[in-house]
Amino acid sequence: MRDSLTITRRKLLSGMSVLAGSSLIIPGAYASDTSTESDEETESESPRRWCIKNATVLTMEPGQAPLTKADVWVVDGRIEAVGESLDTGDSEMIDGEGCIVMPGMVDTHNHMWQTQMRGMFGQREGSLFFPVTKELGEHFRPGDTWIGEYLAAMENVNAGVTTSNDFFDNNRGPEHSQAALEALAASPLRARLLFGNESKTTDGQIDLERLTELHENWERYAERGRLSLGLAWRLPENLDNQDAMAMKRREFDTAREMNLPIAVHVSGENHHGMFQTLIDGDFLIPELQVVHATDAREEHMDALNEAGASLALTPITEHRVAYGLTRLSHFERVERQGLGIDGNALAGSGDMFEIMKHAALTEIAASEDETSVDCERLVALATRLGAESIGMGDEIGTLTPGKQADLIMIDTKRINLGMLPTEPYAFTVFAATPADVSLVAVGGRIAKRGGKLLDMDEEQIASRIDASLSHLRDNL
Ligand SMILES: [Zn+2]
Repeated sequence: MRDSLTITRRKLLSGMSVLAGSSLIIPGAYASDTSTESDEETESESPRRWCIKNATVLTMEPGQAPLTKADVWVVDGRIEAVGESLDTGDSEMIDGEGCIVMPGMVDTHNHMWQTQMRGMFGQREGSLFFPVTKELGEHFRPGDTWIGEYLAAMENVNAGVTTSNDFFDNNRGPEHSQAALEALAASPLRARLLFGNESKTTDGQIDLERLTELHENWERYAERGRLSLGLAWRLPENLDNQDAMAMKRREFDTAREMNLPIAVHVSGENHHGMFQTLIDGDFLIPELQVVHATDAREEHMDALNEAGASLALTPITEHRVAYGLTRLSHFERVERQGLGIDGNALAGSGDMFEIMKHAALTEIAASEDETSVDCERLVALATRLGAESIGMGDEIGTLTPGKQADLIMIDTKRINLGMLPTEPYAFTVFAATPADVSLVAVGGRIAKRGGKLLDMDEEQIASRIDASLSHLRDNL
């Protein structure tokens, strides 16, 4: 099946030439020059039926102990069965001996467009993340958006992240959202594009017309359900500004009329006031995800639970921008929650192992109690609980027959890991790294195998990064 976003080289070139003299949005105009010619021509064919044999399997279903010497069978993109010595007929066999197989990790909050700016901010006045990205964000062209999004997507998949919830808040025009969607479509990642404002610091209204247009034509963008749409929402800078608040309510209501999920930041100096505004304004609903909420008050978390809303914690970035200490114990009462990268640029990478480990170490150190973290729960936060927190728990997050085959394999035979663990959850939190992820599948499509990302033209991508960086540097 093909749709209008599938790109051929011919379409790409014609798109480019038309774009030169027009403000029309040309599907495919921002895509990679060579790496996405077409599904049939360049993507490595994943087998329809394949099975990982004899692995240690963490299904992440509640109450399910790790399985040893188990098989995970995939048919037509979904988990067919998990168990010992499955009879899988003529399926392609993948040796899982010495490997841990678990669900792909779910990054519940990201800002993927920023990725190529990773080396452009530091930890001193004048080089800090917020001012630098604000300034450079204004100079983003659609092609810069494309490479930022694509780079994060590939980095995440390489690290074993199979889903990202992408808060797209440098939405400078229809061409930019088009570029973001094309980048996500060109990657194997499962993603939700949360459609946001033109800049993370403006109080201007989100382009609701474009959002409506995307929603109405979503089948063209959805990549057979791999991509979905939501709203990247913000409260006004001044919470007492009634006009700004009315505009924000309009955005919220418009998204809800389209049944779109919504994410909102609760962070910065007035984060308690922001949380209170969400409560007072009746904005807490099951489809709302609150991001950060550092140091949230108990009554605020109780209100979140009562409304069925969810929370995203991003410990590495919360610490880097000095929001305060993110302690898992503080948020224990929150029923729906997940972990997030919050910008590969700011977090440093798309490594969710590192995020689990960082969260664990923060809690252990602050509590002065080695037993204060539950490693199985940490892996669940990065998989099942994260998926449930963004409303995708029916499709992903556990290795359950019928669900999407979004899964990863960690090779414990690699020299840095050394042995098949008897404590696989702690091992996953403290020892595993993206380099140990030998296989990644999204919806049954194998995107990494033998430790190598498939379907990426590294040279081509590197030159696009260089071009974007030199443009951005000129504006620094
Ligand atoms: Zn964020």
